[in-house]
This record gives sequence, C-alpha cells and structure tokens, in this order.
Amino acid sequence: MSHTRHTIALFGGTFDPVHFGHLRMALELRQALGFDEMRLLPSHRPRHRESPGVSAEHRRQMLALALAGCDELALDDRELRRGGDTYTVDTLEELRRELGCDVSISFCMGLDSLLTLPAWHRWQRLLELAHLVVVARPGWQLPRRDAGGAEAAVAELLERCAGKAKQLHSEPCGRLVVREQTLLPISATDIRQLIASGQSPRFLLPTAVLQYIEDNQLYRQAAAAAGECK
Ligand code: ATP
Repeated sequence: MSHTRHTIALFGGTFDPVHFGHLRMALELRQALGFDEMRLLPSHRPRHRESPGVSAEHRRQMLALALAGCDELALDDRELRRGGDTYTVDTLEELRRELGCDVSISFCMGLDSLLTLPAWHRWQRLLELAHLVVVARPGWQLPRRDAGGAEAAVAELLERCAGKAKQLHSEPCGRLVVREQTLLPISATDIRQLIASGQSPRFLLPTAVLQYIEDNQLYRQAAAAAGECK
C-alpha cells in the first residue's frame, strides 16, 4: 500500500550567476508539486556543458545571497564541496546513503537537459535513485522514437517511466513526470553578455547578487575567465 513520504526536490545547474528564472522555477515547482523541500544544487564542473565562468566560491556566495531569508528554497552545496567533475549519479548515490531508501527524491531539469540525458554518466541508474521532473515550456514537442540516437532513447524512457505528480509522493524514485510551466525569458548567458558589454542586468536577478557581482568585478570579460573553476 502506498503512503505519504518525505519529499525532497533538487534543482541543479551552474547558477553562473543565479537569476530570477531559476528562483521562480524552483519556487513554482515546489508549490505546484507540494515538495517538503526544494534544494538548489550548484554543480562544480558539469561534464555535459562548458565549465562555469567564475569560481565555485563566487557561485556559492551568490546563491546564498539570493536565498537569504527565503524559507521555501534551500542551498545544497555538496557538489561544490566534493569538487572535481560533477556527476549527478554520484550526488544521488550520496543522498540515498544519507537519507535512506524511503524518502522521495525528485531531480528537476528542463526538457533541454533531458534531451542530453543519454550522454550523462551512468544515466540509466538515475531513475533507480530518484524521480525525474522535467519542466517543459507550453507547446513542447514530445521526443520521437523514430528520430534515432539520444532523442529515441529519451522517448523510450518517457514511455517506460511516465508517472503522475502524486507518485512523487507515494514512491521513492523511478518516475518521470513532465510538468508544463512558462519560463521567465532570462538566461545566465545573457546576463554575462550584458555585463561584459558594459550594460546593466538589473531586474533580471536579485539586487544582492548584482551588488556582489559589482563588488567582485565578475563577468566583465566574457570569455577570459571561462574555465577558471576552482
Ligand atoms: P546558461 O545561460 O549559462 O546556460 P542558465 O540560465 O540556462 O545558464 P543553468 O545554471 O544552466 O542556467 O540552469 C540551471 C537550471 O535552470 C536548468 O535546469 C535550466 O533548465 C533552468 N533554467 C535556466 N533558465 C531558466 C529560466 N529562465 N526559467 C526557468 N528555468 C531556467
């Protein structure tokens, strides 16, 4: 028989820097899906994309400032503390060892990230450790089996593991739930480019984060600092 269990959701990213798009998304997911906890999980050095432009410590500080006084969202900096290349599967294994097998863990990602999933380290293991909550923009296209390659593998996964929101509460892992949600049109890339070109990114991210960026003179040179992940 199913029962209600503690539900923890993780929202991963590089947060280089964190902005209102991330924060609204995380909060709306928590509210809509009724998670007990929603943790922002900055990655140290993701393998499936470019290295962050500023150090782990700067990204941690910016997230801490963004979340100050916000009870609904928390920071989980384990991937920054672990250092090195970041593999989500290692993080989920670690969380399972820490929290046991009864807690429900949901790893949240955008549909764009889901399409890259077959390139992730030990990706087939992810659903044995957690649910996947995929956020898709309204009008999103379902990945097609006949597309071949990674898209076909994702289409197969969507069919095999498709779940409903209530299963995120009744089961500890194994479901893939797609949630339609409008995204604020903000990207960290745009913010970095604005700063590098001497323009202001004000109103796209929390004031305290912008102040930190200015105090530390971050992102002034677009590409020069890339790869400086400490
Ligand atoms: P970049 O432009 O450097 O790729 P980003 O703004 O897309 O950065 P990431 O740190 O790569 O941010 O993304 C973290 C997570 O936030 C991902 O799951 C991504 O899908 C999601 N995300 C990014 N932008 C938005 C947005 N505007 N609204 C909601 N979610 C977003």
